[in-house]
Amino acid sequence: MSDGSRYTCDDCGTGFRTSEATRTRTMGGLDPDAWQTLCCPACGVRVKTVFVGLD
Ligand SMILES: [Zn+2]
Repeated sequence: MSDGSRYTCDDCGTGFRTSEATRTRTMGGLDPDAWQTLCCPACGVRVKTVFVGLD
């Protein structure tokens, strides 16, 4: 999967790429092997849930 996506934290305004995000398991019962939540590396707020199931 492409690692070129950029995100901006709505909470603190920090911009980061997928590879820089703190990753956690999703909260909604989704398969943790297929879905991960990207969190702001600065403040830890959840920013985006992404599909990572296909390498
Ligand atoms: Zn943040």
